[in-house]
Amino acid sequence: MSRSLNTLLSVPFLPFTRPSIDEETIASVAEVLRSGWITSGPKVQAFEAALAEICGGRTVRAFNSGTAALEVALRLAGVGPGDEVITTPLTWVATANVILEVGASPVLVDIDPTTRNIDLKRIEAAMTSRTKALIPVDLAGLPVDRDRLYAIAALGRLRVVEDAAQSFGASWNGQAIGSSGDFVAFSFHANKNLTTSEGGALVLPADIDAGLCERLRLQGVQRSPDGGMDVDVLGGKFNLTDVAAAIGLGQLKRRHEFDARRRALAARYFERLDPDLGLELPPADFNHSNWHMFQPLLPAGSDRAAFIAAMKELGIGIGVHYPALHLFTLYRRLGFTAGQFPHAEDVGARTVTLPLFPAMSDADVDRVCTALTKVLKH
Ligand SMILES: *Cc1c(COP(=O)(O)O)cnc(C)c1O
Repeated sequence: MSRSLNTLLSVPFLPFTRPSIDEETIASVAEVLRSGWITSGPKVQAFEAALAEICGGRTVRAFNSGTAALEVALRLAGVGPGDEVITTPLTWVATANVILEVGASPVLVDIDPTTRNIDLKRIEAAMTSRTKALIPVDLAGLPVDRDRLYAIAALGRLRVVEDAAQSFGASWNGQAIGSSGDFVAFSFHANKNLTTSEGGALVLPADIDAGLCERLRLQGVQRSPDGGMDVDVLGGKFNLTDVAAAIGLGQLKRRHEFDARRRALAARYFERLDPDLGLELPPADFNHSNWHMFQPLLPAGSDRAAFIAAMKELGIGIGVHYPALHLFTLYRRLGFTAGQFPHAEDVGARTVTLPLFPAMSDADVDRVCTALTKVLKH
């Protein structure tokens, strides 16, 4: 198949993403493994401190996933059974799953097809007396307009849990995502711009007790100085390990280099992509986005599976992020139906994620562009 064809042609397969882990980071992980302390400890504390500095001195707690950070944020925001939470149907399903996980109901609002993020104009109409919170998602690292978002949240006295899983390193009005706002959740999954292999973090607003956040992160356990312990709240098992935090600390040293490289590669895509292929390009936002992904939309009516297979034959990996989540069986069972969010459905059906990661060369981008021309002009 494609792999063997590539081997014959001796062209290495180009995945849509690949983490960049340097030898210094690998050595620091080995050091943790040899230290005798491999779960949450000093590396996690150092990682939290480094994240806090990036987030303007706000309180940050590390988690073992972005999903866990989102779920704990909802609990800290007091969201539970009977409450409604507004979010977008065009996101990784984790965003909506955590709403169900805390016993609340997801209320979906269609996207704005120009940004592919939640359509801010439609949020007010979706609010009810039960609406408790908003979860905006910065899809592909393109931030939702924070000024308009918080104006809308204030209107309905809603808490905001920013799903910034994809937008670590992005900014709004020159301010790093995470440095302002209500709750902000990051993911450090292997595919994200900065990784701990698996991991996440939650930036806390000033009115939230970091101690409660820590208890929700680990079984509700509270230790007293005399060695005793108590449990006063039902917590999960969401703590990050020092092994993972060591990876994160190594990644943080290179974050500006990574971000710059992603921007340069995205710019090259805009420059080199054949404009006659019928592709709908993402917004060319070089002020705010961290270029987590580069996602053109295929022409309407395209066979995406055939496109992906043809690109694979040419040695190029293509991702799909994401089909509209209300079309998944679980969400249909909850009453969502096809046709409800036409923009999200359209983008979800046509979106493709092209290779974009810091270790890519300019020649790799050119190779993807050549392959696109070959496949789409066919
Ligand atoms: C990755 C991601 C998450 C979940 O993060 P994990 O670390 O995988 O749990 C949530 N929302 C969005 C938009 C994501 O991309």
